[in-house]
Amino acid sequence: MKYPKMREVKEAVISLFSKPYTTKYPAGDFKPFPGFRGKPVVDEDNCVGCETCANVCPPNAITFEDDKEKGIRTITRDYGKCIFCGQCEEHCITGKGVKLSDEIYDMACFDRSAVVEKQERELIICESCGAIITTKDHMRFIHEKLGPLAYSSILNLNLLNERLRLAGDGDTSTEIKDGLKRKDTFSTLCPNCNRQIQIKNLA
Ligand code: SF4
Ligand code: SF4
Repeated sequence: MKYPKMREVKEAVISLFSKPYTTKYPAGDFKPFPGFRGKPVVDEDNCVGCETCANVCPPNAITFEDDKEKGIRTITRDYGKCIFCGQCEEHCITGKGVKLSDEIYDMACFDRSAVVEKQERELIICESCGAIITTKDHMRFIHEKLGPLAYSSILNLNLLNERLRLAGDGDTSTEIKDGLKRKDTFSTLCPNCNRQIQIKNLA
């Protein structure tokens, strides 16, 4: 029979009289240690719906769905799948769109849908081929980053016009028929359609 070493006996006796290391939640307050990684919390004002966090989330807890008919992107965050790795926070393009919080034990629930959150963002769709370009908030974020350089893009000009109503009622869309022509340069186009017009202009 093996006998415990003196060191182990000493530790057992000390632990009988010392405070527990584990938290007594919910009987007592939960005090997170520095750098604790809890539930990611989205900042609606700083999340632009770019999808980057969905692409880096290891367990696919973040997914997105684009509805062309409604022109809406829905981002779904299922915290029941979250492993609290912090990748979404680390790779968020705005740096403030999502932050891990101290909240974790409060997430315990019987209904998994209670820990699923959804966000909606308006999409920009190519007026020629119907491809999804990105969200309006994402484009505005790029615009702010670029400053005056952003005005070299028709896409940004159209978006700005929509907000400031510099030209008419802000609706810059024109009907595109019989293929892309030079006049369509000022429509909201995806990079591929834009390139087609540029090539036609040069030809
Ligand atoms: S990366 Fe940031 S800005 Fe982009 S969708 Fe995720 S939280 Fe929002
Ligand atoms: S913390 Fe990790 S697992 Fe959780 S949503 Fe963010 S990237 Fe996904």
